[in-house]
Amino acid sequence: MPVSASDDRPDHAQFDLLKLRIVLVEPSHPGNIGGVARALKTMGLSQLVLVAPKRYPDPQAEWRAAGAQDVLQQARVVDSVDEAIAECHLVVGTSTRSRTLPWPIHPVVEAAPKLLAASAHGPVAILFGREDNGLSNDELQRCHFHVAIPANPEYSSLNLAMAVQVLCYELFRHSELSTAIDSSWDKRAARSDELEGFFGHLETVLTEIDFHDPSNPGQALTRLRRLFTRIRPDETEVAMLRGVLSHVQRAARLSDP
Ligand code: SAH
Repeated sequence: MPVSASDDRPDHAQFDLLKLRIVLVEPSHPGNIGGVARALKTMGLSQLVLVAPKRYPDPQAEWRAAGAQDVLQQARVVDSVDEAIAECHLVVGTSTRSRTLPWPIHPVVEAAPKLLAASAHGPVAILFGREDNGLSNDELQRCHFHVAIPANPEYSSLNLAMAVQVLCYELFRHSELSTAIDSSWDKRAARSDELEGFFGHLETVLTEIDFHDPSNPGQALTRLRRLFTRIRPDETEVAMLRGVLSHVQRAARLSDP
């Protein structure tokens, strides 16, 4: 199962689902804890931390965990969120909305690749809140960013274990995508900063050659961005495209009286 990248792949691919830590803050229902353990195991994760659970251990947790007893048995129980996240270099909180002060918030599909990439550099914590009132403002403000599962705006609060399942599924899906491109390709996929550099360069050149008018932008640049993102170019392809852009710039300057 492609839960982590092997050593012979390029550096960027050393993501590791096992370094992603699911933290439940004061869960009240042991059944949810069991459901969460099962959600983790089905998606190739295993690190579960419980912050001051109301009822645990409990037979209901074991029953709901089904074949994921091992995840449950290895779960760490701690007294505080601080203890749960101490050595994590990235901490994110799941929430349906940003509160009091708006905080960076990403839909789960966008957050998954960020979390996976961060797992290459050490432990990452993903916080889930209490069944009745979620994460407190203090807890949410400990987080680098928030993750939301898009849902019915009239009723967007998922059951705790189901929210964990959706997030872990996205992580698993992205890990498979990354593994697919990494194992069959000779070059690593372009990083987001490299792609952004290319998009910036493209916009400059298209403006210089009067293809793009910043005062009347339309949708062309967005469509080009969509095209290149869909292709998921590798690092060499992006470097080559930038080489082409530089030549276009030089030719345009030479022909400009
Ligand atoms: N009533 C609470 C929601 C509790 S649901 C509130 O208003 O905040 C329990 C936990 O599941 C939440 O704290 C969050 O961690 C997660 N969760 C539920 N629905 C979610 C969603 N749509 N997006 C992200 N996380 C969600």
